[in-house]
Amino acid sequence: MFRIAFLGPPGAGKGTQAALLAPVLGVPIVMPGALYRRAIALGTPLGKQVASVVESGAMVPNAITNAVIAQRLAEPDCASGFILDGFPREREQLDVLEQIKTPLTHAVLLVIDEQEIYRRLSDRLVCVCGLQFSRREMPVEPGNEAMCTACDGTLTRRKDDDPERIARRIVHYHEQTEPVIAACRAQGVLAEVNGQQPAAAVQHDIRHALGISEH
Ligand SMILES: [Zn+2]
Repeated sequence: MFRIAFLGPPGAGKGTQAALLAPVLGVPIVMPGALYRRAIALGTPLGKQVASVVESGAMVPNAITNAVIAQRLAEPDCASGFILDGFPREREQLDVLEQIKTPLTHAVLLVIDEQEIYRRLSDRLVCVCGLQFSRREMPVEPGNEAMCTACDGTLTRRKDDDPERIARRIVHYHEQTEPVIAACRAQGVLAEVNGQQPAAAVQHDIRHALGISEH
Protein backbone atom coordinates (compact mmCIF):
# COMPACT_ATOMS: atom_id res chain seq x y z
CA MET A 1 0.00 0.00 0.00
CA PHE A 2 1.42 3.35 -1.05
CA ARG A 3 -0.08 6.52 0.40
CA ILE A 4 2.48 9.00 -0.86
CA ALA A 5 2.81 12.75 -0.68
CA PHE A 6 5.25 14.65 -2.87
CA LEU A 7 6.83 17.50 -0.94
CA GLY A 8 9.16 20.24 -2.14
CA PRO A 9 9.15 23.91 -3.10
CA PRO A 10 7.17 25.19 -6.08
CA GLY A 11 8.86 24.12 -9.29
CA ALA A 12 10.55 21.09 -7.72
CA GLY A 13 8.87 18.77 -10.23
CA LYS A 14 6.21 17.25 -7.98
CA GLY A 15 3.56 17.12 -10.72
CA THR A 16 5.93 15.64 -13.28
CA GLN A 17 7.20 12.95 -10.91
CA ALA A 18 3.70 12.10 -9.65
CA ALA A 19 2.55 11.61 -13.26
CA LEU A 20 5.47 9.24 -13.93
CA LEU A 21 4.92 7.24 -10.75
CA ALA A 22 1.12 6.89 -10.65
CA PRO A 23 0.76 4.38 -13.52
CA VAL A 24 3.53 2.24 -12.03
CA LEU A 25 1.68 1.99 -8.72
CA GLY A 26 -1.82 1.98 -10.26
CA VAL A 27 -3.02 4.69 -7.91
CA PRO A 28 -4.71 8.05 -8.58
CA ILE A 29 -2.99 11.43 -8.23
CA VAL A 30 -4.86 13.74 -5.89
CA MET A 31 -4.17 17.48 -6.29
CA PRO A 32 -6.10 20.22 -4.52
CA GLY A 33 -5.59 22.48 -7.56
CA ALA A 34 -7.24 19.98 -9.91
CA LEU A 35 -10.11 19.40 -7.47
CA TYR A 36 -10.69 23.17 -7.24
CA ARG A 37 -10.66 23.54 -11.01
CA ARG A 38 -13.19 20.71 -11.33
CA ALA A 39 -15.47 22.27 -8.71
CA ILE A 40 -15.19 25.68 -10.41
CA ALA A 41 -15.98 24.17 -13.82
CA LEU A 42 -18.99 22.33 -12.40
CA GLY A 43 -20.18 25.52 -10.71
CA THR A 44 -20.83 23.81 -7.38
CA PRO A 45 -21.30 25.99 -4.26
CA LEU A 46 -17.77 25.00 -3.25
CA GLY A 47 -16.53 25.90 -6.73
CA LYS A 48 -18.01 29.39 -6.48
CA GLN A 49 -16.39 29.86 -3.07
CA VAL A 50 -13.00 28.67 -4.34
CA ALA A 51 -13.23 30.71 -7.55
CA SER A 52 -13.41 34.00 -5.66
CA VAL A 53 -10.43 33.05 -3.46
CA VAL A 54 -8.33 31.92 -6.44
CA GLU A 55 -9.20 35.08 -8.41
CA SER A 56 -7.90 37.22 -5.54
CA GLY A 57 -4.60 35.33 -5.59
CA ALA A 58 -4.99 34.31 -1.94
CA MET A 59 -4.42 30.81 -0.55
CA VAL A 60 -7.54 28.67 -0.26
CA PRO A 61 -8.40 28.39 3.47
CA ASN A 62 -7.46 25.14 5.20
CA ALA A 63 -11.04 24.29 6.09
CA ILE A 64 -11.98 24.14 2.41
CA THR A 65 -8.83 22.34 1.29
CA ASN A 66 -9.11 19.73 4.04
CA ALA A 67 -12.77 19.05 3.26
CA VAL A 68 -12.08 18.69 -0.46
CA ILE A 69 -9.18 16.30 0.14
CA ALA A 70 -11.06 14.22 2.73
CA GLN A 71 -13.97 13.83 0.33
CA ARG A 72 -11.69 12.81 -2.54
CA LEU A 73 -9.68 10.28 -0.49
CA ALA A 74 -12.95 8.62 0.58
CA GLU A 75 -13.70 7.71 -3.06
CA PRO A 76 -13.23 4.00 -3.93
CA ASP A 77 -10.23 4.45 -6.25
CA CYS A 78 -8.17 5.81 -3.34
CA ALA A 79 -8.83 2.76 -1.15
CA SER A 80 -5.70 0.97 -2.36
CA GLY A 81 -3.44 4.01 -2.21
CA PHE A 82 -2.89 7.45 -3.72
CA ILE A 83 -0.30 10.07 -4.57
CA LEU A 84 -0.81 13.55 -3.17
CA ASP A 85 0.61 16.55 -5.03
CA GLY A 86 0.23 19.97 -3.40
CA PHE A 87 -1.01 18.53 -0.11
CA PRO A 88 -0.12 18.58 2.79
CA ARG A 89 1.36 22.08 2.62
CA GLU A 90 0.79 22.86 6.29
CA ARG A 91 1.12 20.92 9.51
CA GLU A 92 -2.63 21.02 10.12
CA GLN A 93 -3.18 19.37 6.74
CA LEU A 94 -0.80 16.55 7.60
CA ASP A 95 -2.77 15.90 10.78
CA VAL A 96 -5.98 15.66 8.76
CA LEU A 97 -4.60 12.58 7.00
CA GLU A 98 -4.24 10.91 10.39
CA GLN A 99 -7.74 11.97 11.41
CA ILE A 100 -9.35 10.44 8.33
CA LYS A 101 -7.34 7.22 8.85
CA THR A 102 -5.15 7.57 5.78
CA PRO A 103 -1.73 8.40 7.24
CA LEU A 104 1.11 8.70 4.75
CA THR A 105 3.28 5.62 4.19
CA HIS A 106 5.86 7.74 2.35
CA ALA A 107 6.67 11.43 1.92
CA VAL A 108 9.02 12.09 -0.99
CA LEU A 109 10.88 15.39 -0.68
CA LEU A 110 12.26 16.79 -3.94
CA VAL A 111 15.24 18.96 -3.06
CA ILE A 112 16.17 21.90 -5.31
CA ASP A 113 17.84 25.24 -4.57
CA GLU A 114 16.10 28.61 -4.68
CA GLN A 115 17.80 29.87 -7.83
CA GLU A 116 16.58 26.80 -9.68
CA ILE A 117 13.01 27.40 -8.44
CA TYR A 118 12.90 30.86 -10.06
CA ARG A 119 14.60 29.63 -13.21
CA ARG A 120 12.10 26.81 -13.66
CA LEU A 121 8.93 28.69 -12.78
CA SER A 122 9.66 31.70 -14.96
CA ASP A 123 10.22 29.20 -17.77
CA ARG A 124 7.12 27.05 -17.19
CA LEU A 125 4.24 26.73 -19.65
CA VAL A 126 1.17 24.66 -18.87
CA CYS A 127 -1.65 23.08 -20.88
CA VAL A 128 -5.26 22.61 -19.80
CA CYS A 129 -4.67 18.84 -20.13
CA GLY A 130 -2.22 19.06 -17.21
CA LEU A 131 1.08 18.66 -19.06
CA GLN A 132 3.89 21.11 -18.37
CA PHE A 133 6.57 22.35 -20.74
CA SER A 134 9.73 24.39 -20.56
CA ARG A 135 9.65 27.57 -22.63
CA ARG A 136 13.30 27.08 -23.60
CA GLU A 137 12.57 23.61 -24.92
CA MET A 138 9.59 24.77 -26.98
CA PRO A 139 10.95 26.83 -29.86
CA VAL A 140 8.04 28.90 -31.16
CA GLU A 141 7.98 30.89 -34.38
CA PRO A 142 7.42 34.61 -33.79
CA GLY A 143 3.70 35.41 -33.82
CA ASN A 144 2.71 31.81 -33.07
CA GLU A 145 1.61 30.37 -29.77
CA ALA A 146 3.28 27.38 -28.18
CA MET A 147 1.12 24.26 -28.52
CA CYS A 148 0.82 21.15 -26.36
CA THR A 149 2.50 18.14 -27.99
CA ALA A 150 -0.19 15.81 -26.61
CA CYS A 151 -3.48 17.61 -27.28
CA ASP A 152 -2.61 20.69 -29.42
CA GLY A 153 -3.90 22.92 -26.62
CA THR A 154 -2.47 26.43 -26.35
CA LEU A 155 0.23 26.68 -23.69
CA THR A 156 0.01 29.47 -21.15
CA ARG A 157 1.83 30.66 -18.06
CA ARG A 158 0.29 29.67 -14.78
CA LYS A 159 -1.30 32.65 -13.06
CA ASP A 160 0.71 32.10 -9.89
CA ASP A 161 4.06 31.83 -11.72
CA ASP A 162 4.78 35.59 -11.76
CA PRO A 163 7.82 36.63 -9.66
CA GLU A 164 5.78 38.26 -6.90
CA ARG A 165 3.59 35.21 -6.37
CA ILE A 166 6.57 32.87 -6.64
CA ALA A 167 8.24 34.79 -3.80
CA ARG A 168 5.08 34.54 -1.71
CA ARG A 169 4.81 30.79 -2.33
CA ILE A 170 8.43 30.30 -1.29
CA VAL A 171 7.88 32.20 1.96
CA HIS A 172 4.80 30.07 2.63
CA TYR A 173 6.85 26.97 1.89
CA HIS A 174 9.54 27.90 4.42
CA GLU A 175 7.08 28.91 7.12
CA GLN A 176 4.34 26.32 6.67
CA THR A 177 5.60 23.32 4.69
CA GLU A 178 8.98 22.85 6.37
CA PRO A 179 7.21 21.83 9.61
CA VAL A 180 5.42 19.14 7.55
CA ILE A 181 8.79 17.85 6.35
CA ALA A 182 10.12 17.81 9.91
CA ALA A 183 7.07 15.87 11.11
CA CYS A 184 7.39 13.31 8.30
CA ARG A 185 11.07 12.89 9.14
CA ALA A 186 10.18 12.31 12.80
CA GLN A 187 7.56 9.74 11.75
CA GLY A 188 10.20 7.91 9.70
CA VAL A 189 8.30 8.23 6.39
CA LEU A 190 10.49 10.87 4.71
CA ALA A 191 12.63 10.09 1.65
CA GLU A 192 14.81 12.89 0.24
CA VAL A 193 15.59 12.88 -3.46
CA ASN A 194 17.79 15.25 -5.47
CA GLY A 195 15.23 17.05 -7.65
CA GLN A 196 17.85 18.96 -9.58
CA GLN A 197 18.58 16.09 -11.97
CA PRO A 198 16.86 15.26 -15.28
CA ALA A 199 13.29 13.99 -14.68
CA ALA A 200 14.14 10.37 -15.53
CA ALA A 201 16.98 10.29 -13.00
CA VAL A 202 14.74 11.81 -10.33
CA GLN A 203 12.11 9.15 -11.03
CA HIS A 204 14.74 6.42 -10.77
CA ASP A 205 15.82 7.69 -7.36
CA ILE A 206 12.20 7.93 -6.19
CA ARG A 207 11.48 4.31 -7.13
CA HIS A 208 14.67 3.24 -5.42
CA ALA A 209 13.64 5.11 -2.26
CA LEU A 210 10.20 3.46 -2.38
CA GLY A 211 11.73 0.02 -2.88
CA ILE A 212 10.07 -0.49 -6.27
CA SER A 213 12.12 -2.74 -8.52
CA GLU A 214 12.61 -1.48 -12.07
CA HIS A 215 13.51 -4.91 -13.45
ZN1 LIG B 1 -2.33 19.34 -23.64
